[in-house]
Amino acid sequence: MTYTDRDRAVQAAVAQGLVGPEEPVAGLLDITGVRRSAAELHAAFAEFTAPGAPVLHAFAVKAASLVPVLRLLAQEGLGCEVASPGELALARAAGVPADRTVLDSPAKTPAELREALALGIAVNADNREELARIDHLRTSVPSTAPIGLRVNPQIGGGRIGAMSTATDTSKFGIALRDEGARDWVVRACLDRPWLTRLHAHVGSQGMPLELMGAGVRALFDLAEEINERAGRQQIDTLDIGGGLPVNFSSDVTTPTYREYAALLRSAVPGLFAGRYGLITEFGRSLLAKHGTVLARVEYAKSAGGRPIAVTHAGAQVATRTVFVPEAWPLRVAAYDAEGRPKTGAPVAQDIAGPCCFAGDLVAENRPLPLLQSGDHTALLDTGAYYFSTHFAYNSLPRPGVYGYAASPDGVRFAVIRTPQSLSDLTAESGAAYAESLREL
Ligand SMILES: *Cc1c(COP(=O)(O)O)cnc(C)c1O
Repeated sequence: MTYTDRDRAVQAAVAQGLVGPEEPVAGLLDITGVRRSAAELHAAFAEFTAPGAPVLHAFAVKAASLVPVLRLLAQEGLGCEVASPGELALARAAGVPADRTVLDSPAKTPAELREALALGIAVNADNREELARIDHLRTSVPSTAPIGLRVNPQIGGGRIGAMSTATDTSKFGIALRDEGARDWVVRACLDRPWLTRLHAHVGSQGMPLELMGAGVRALFDLAEEINERAGRQQIDTLDIGGGLPVNFSSDVTTPTYREYAALLRSAVPGLFAGRYGLITEFGRSLLAKHGTVLARVEYAKSAGGRPIAVTHAGAQVATRTVFVPEAWPLRVAAYDAEGRPKTGAPVAQDIAGPCCFAGDLVAENRPLPLLQSGDHTALLDTGAYYFSTHFAYNSLPRPGVYGYAASPDGVRFAVIRTPQSLSDLTAESGAAYAESLREL
C-alpha cells in the first residue's frame, strides 16, 4: 500500500503523541499543499490579467482564523478579508498590512469603521445606512482607505441555501434589482467621488461556476455604467469575492482556480483588460483539501444491530456536517492504533462524536473497516471552517492544530495552536466571577 502525505502525517502525529489518550483530537494542516494552492491561485489570475493590473488575493479569514496560517499566506503573497474586529485583530497579529486588508462585515459598528478608516483598510459598505455613516466619519477621520459598495446582483442561489448570498432576499449588500436600487447606486457613486470600488460575493460552496460568473458580469456592467455616467474611471477596482466550491468527495481538486479564471475570462472579458484592479476573497478553496481532523476512537459499541465508533471529533469541530449532513458530507478515513491506514472488509457503521446529543454523528452507516477502541478516524478536507471554527458545546476544548511538511524521509510538525487547557476553558467560562451571582 502506498502512503499519501496525509497518511504519513497521521502516523507521525500518533507516534509523536500529538493525538493520543491525553489529546484525543487534533487538526493537521499540510503546509506544502497550502503553498501549492496559493501558487495556483496567483498563476490562474496572472495568466489572464493584463500586465501591471493590480490583483490582490485577500484570504477570507473566517475560513481559517489562525494567525500562523494568515502569516504563511501573507508570505505567499495573499492579503486578508476580515469581517469582524476579531478577524481584523488576527490579520494585524499576522503582520498583514492595512493596504492588503479588506473589511466586509455586514454589521460594522461606528468604532470599527473609524478604526478601518484611520488605519487605511479598504472598506466595502454593505448598505445605505452604512454608507451614510461613512459619509459622516469621513468628515472627522483623515483617511486614505479605499471605499467600496457591496451589491447583491440577485442572480439566484446555489445548492446550499444558507451559503447563497445572491438570492432575491439575501441579507448582504444592496439588492441591485430591487425597484430603484440600481439608479440609487449609480447616484450614490456620482455623489461620492471617493467611492471607487464595487464588491460582490455571491455565495460559498454549492455555487455553480456559471452563476458565479454571472454575478461578476453584473458587477462589471454596473461599474461600466457608473464610469460612463461619471465621464471618468471612477470605479477603479472590482472585488469579486470568493466562493470557489470544493470537491469533498475525493482527493481531486475540482473546479480549479484556472477553470474559474478561464470562465471569468469568457463571461466578463473586460475584467482582465487592465482597466480595473481586481480583488478576490477565496477561503475554503485555498485550505479545505489540506486539512485533516484526526481523532481517537474511545469506544466501539453497537445499538440496534448497528456498530458505532464513539470518537472525539463531532459537532465541536465538524459543526456543519453534524447539523446539516446532506449539505456538508465529509469523507472519513480509518486508521489503526498506530495511525496506519486500517484494512479489513468495510462494515457500515456510525462515526459518532463526543457531544451529548443523539445527532452528534459525522457519518451514518458509513462502510469502513470495523473500528475498534484505540483506532483513529480522520475527517478529510477539513482545512477550512472545521478545526478553526470551534463550537464550544459541552465545554469541549479547542483542539491543538499543527502544520506539517511530509516527505518519504519523514514528517515535520509546527504548532499552529496548542490545545485549549482546562484552566483557559474555565477562565473563559467566568471562573473569575464565581461568586458574582450571590451578590444579586
Ligand atoms: C465567506 C466569504 C468569503 C469566502 O468564501 P469561501 O467560500 O470560503 O471562498 C469571501 N467573501 C465574503 C464576503 C465572505 O463572506
